[in-house]
Amino acid sequence: MHELSLAMALVEQIEEVVRQEKATRVLELQVVIGAYSGVELEPFEFCFPLAAEGSVAEGAKLRIEKVPVRIRCGECGKESVPELPSVACTLCGSWGVEIIAGKEFLLRSLEVS
Ligand SMILES: [Zn+2]
Repeated sequence: MHELSLAMALVEQIEEVVRQEKATRVLELQVVIGAYSGVELEPFEFCFPLAAEGSVAEGAKLRIEKVPVRIRCGECGKESVPELPSVACTLCGSWGVEIIAGKEFLLRSLEVS
């Protein structure tokens, strides 16, 4: 499952941070997931505790910050929030757009002890 491998990669990233911080465990973490990142929230929320089992992140509270998709139109130059799954400009209908937000999948913060 796609989300499980993402969750496992995230746990590896967390373990690295925890080592650098010389902490022993993670209490809470915040993950940013864009609506256009390809990461499904529910499977991810389900997979994270499985990936975290036996790691420093086991039992950590997972908080997800959702980021909507924003596009900038190459035709009219305006920014808008498209109606997914379409990513055409909502103002002029052009498909010549640049996705400026919503592709994120990253670890925003960690609370360790
Ligand atoms: Zn436009």
